[in-house]
Amino acid sequence: MEGKTNLAFTGIATFCRTPHVPSIDEVQADVAVLGIPFDEGVGYRPGTRFGPRSIREYSMRFPYFDRTGGQRGYWDIEKRRWFLTETTMVDCGDVDVVPLDMAYVHRQIEESVRGILRKGALPVSLGGDHSVTYPVVKAFNDQGTISLVQFDAHLDRREEVGGVKYGHGSPIKRISQLDFIDKIVTVGLRGLRAPEEDYLDAEARGDILIPAHKVRTFGAAKTLSGIPPLGKCYVTIDIDVLDPALAPGTGTPEAEGLSFHQLIKMLQGLAANNQIVGLDLVEVNPYLDPTGRTPLFAAQLIVEFLGAIFG
Ligand code: MN
Ligand code: MN
Repeated sequence: MEGKTNLAFTGIATFCRTPHVPSIDEVQADVAVLGIPFDEGVGYRPGTRFGPRSIREYSMRFPYFDRTGGQRGYWDIEKRRWFLTETTMVDCGDVDVVPLDMAYVHRQIEESVRGILRKGALPVSLGGDHSVTYPVVKAFNDQGTISLVQFDAHLDRREEVGGVKYGHGSPIKRISQLDFIDKIVTVGLRGLRAPEEDYLDAEARGDILIPAHKVRTFGAAKTLSGIPPLGKCYVTIDIDVLDPALAPGTGTPEAEGLSFHQLIKMLQGLAANNQIVGLDLVEVNPYLDPTGRTPLFAAQLIVEFLGAIFG
């Protein structure tokens, strides 16, 4: 249904008001958005199961696709040009979630992302907690060797927590053990809960760990210059990489995070230097942010990153 204005508070929320295509077999687009409302991997404050719906809700403020009478895409005030005018995008809705059956949910996630890849679209997954990134990345196992860039305050490389290997403290450890994963780069690390042995383990693998204080001190451009070409590259963004003043709606905030500028500049640099094959944004917990700026900025990050990828 189309109105005169399609204001942000009207209509049924899909990501940026893109067409809803619930059957992945019918996807015909450059970008396919997938919601993963799953938060049973958290060890602290739950609520990210409401992340996808909340990001969609706030993304309606960026109605860049199929805007009534308007041009597709957005005009960038900094670069003084339009982006995403030729890019097609659909919203596939949410992965089926069965409470307390993580194996089932993981299979649904993996099959959904594999289906999107089969249709030739770039998968954009909305979490959910960070545990969902492992089954998402598993779906790339027939795409050749890929590298991973993780934006996160935390390393997420716990071998296990209480005997469980698939919680949100372990997805990058699990991914690091997949045979098609090349280098892993983690940006934004900080906090007092960092386990030393996990850092040593990651460095022994040859991975690149960039703490938040380096990005804050030297800026995005200098930080990017320390990252080698990665080829095919999957990007996972844990919203807690941002400073909690910007993004308080997340279960495990850490002080002294990245600015929006630093993060978007790094995403733009990665898109310029590598082939981005997929992305996710996880750990948005709308219950912890009554102002709504966390899901709002999450939606903007995705839109601007897509602008950098597709031009
Ligand atoms: Mn994380
Ligand atoms: Mn984190």
